Amino acid sequence: MENLFRLADHEDFFSRLCIWVNGPVIVGAGPSGLATAACLREQGVPFVVLDREECIASLWQKRTYDRLKLHLPKQFCQLPKLPFPEDFPEYPTKKQFIEYLESYAKHFEINPRFNECVQSARYDETSGLWRVKTVSTSGSTRTELEYICRWLVVATGENAECVMPDIEGLNEFGGDVIHACSYKSGEKFRGKKVLVVGCGNSGMEVSLDLCNHNASPSMVVRSTVHVLPRETFGKSTFELAIFLLRWLPIWLVDKLLLIFAWILLGSIEKYGLKRPSMGPLELKNTRGKTPVLDIGALEKIRSGDIKVVPGIKRFSRGHVELVNGETHDIDSVVLATGYRSNVPYWLQEGEFFSKDGFPKAPFPNGWKGNAGLYAVGFTRRGLSGASCDAIRIAQDIGKVWKDDTKQQKKRTTACHRRCISQL
Ligand SMILES: Cc1cc2nc3c(=O)[nH]c(=O)nc-3n(C[C@H](O)[C@H](O)[C@H](O)COP(=O)(O)OP(=O)(O)OC[C@H]3O[C@@H](n4cnc5c(N)ncnc54)[C@H](O)[C@@H]3O)c2cc1C
Repeated sequence: MENLFRLADHEDFFSRLCIWVNGPVIVGAGPSGLATAACLREQGVPFVVLDREECIASLWQKRTYDRLKLHLPKQFCQLPKLPFPEDFPEYPTKKQFIEYLESYAKHFEINPRFNECVQSARYDETSGLWRVKTVSTSGSTRTELEYICRWLVVATGENAECVMPDIEGLNEFGGDVIHACSYKSGEKFRGKKVLVVGCGNSGMEVSLDLCNHNASPSMVVRSTVHVLPRETFGKSTFELAIFLLRWLPIWLVDKLLLIFAWILLGSIEKYGLKRPSMGPLELKNTRGKTPVLDIGALEKIRSGDIKVVPGIKRFSRGHVELVNGETHDIDSVVLATGYRSNVPYWLQEGEFFSKDGFPKAPFPNGWKGNAGLYAVGFTRRGLSGASCDAIRIAQDIGKVWKDDTKQQKKRTTACHRRCISQL
């Protein structure tokens, strides 16, 4: 599938080994990259998957907390061509999800090249090929490689880098400050006062976990947030919304979801959580903001075990000053401040991707760019969106691949005939 050679390009001559890939290069071995690779395998198209870490699904394996379960029921999270095992629960644990991904990679014989961080990728107009430069580090050895390919599939994810806010005085605070991606469990925070910055799914769940480990969390809620029950009348709220959307317009489904939420959770406003004026589904569709699916944090907010506090003014040694003038003693800070795409840092292209690292065209049109460029998993629709992209990409590349292979066969047969007739 690949050929090694040194590229006659004076800037890299003698230094960078080049690898010709007879098929697409997929950057990222998370669920999106694996799903695309599996669909390409079914189409008979060879590929190379690159990942900067030493394992598949590094987000799930290395940057998520222990108590994490899939937020959505399993049928909305499985990858194409291979369902979850039947004995998995409706909301598989993180461990089960990783097991599933490992067996998925094995089943489709996907063997990524690990520890290869893509530093840059650009389309070379002259050759009509993509040039993907990587740096791989194994122990103290650093190797620079360049992959040359006709198709490039970007699968580095919506959560490639942590967002670390710049808050006045945070450097002087003195206690532990971690991003939610480094939070594993509340065990090491037992008995401590912890400020959790952010009230999305991660902020809520980290706060709940801290409570369960006898820590005292205060959750900073600066913006508005939709909190919905994970289950409504015994059915997953997400599934119910999908079901209702078949018959009803989105604004009406939003209204119904909010009525159900009010019946099941009561008013959240009296606890300091303000709902946005736009409905939860409309907000997700237009701004990509995911509603929180409550799995117990609200109960702890109600009982006062999780305190809700307003925005931060500044930190000082051992303290936080809030915008309402209150000052609180705290021991640690967990920044549940979200993630961002890293595509703008390495992909030299400005037509298909926008500056925020997401395709300019929204779902379902953001999977295909020009000149053999594709994006998978940037739909703001989690794993089900990634699966849709993966299927389309593989079909698109597969079609060209099959046509080319047929033509090549024809050319070879014609050439044989000519040779035979000449003989
Ligand atoms: C805490 C948490 C819980 C979530 N729960 C759910 C859920 O229940 N359901 C759901 O549908 N979604 C959920 N998500 C969303 C999540 O983003 C997706 O589930 C899924 O991980 C997306 O897969 P991906 O392959 O697109 O991205 P990722 O899983 O982030 O994989 C991207 C891969 O690209 C690699 N990479 C990045 N940059 C480079 C580079 N420059 N060179 C080489 N490799 C690179 C990374 O190492 C990584 O392995 C959750 C996210 C988080 C953070």
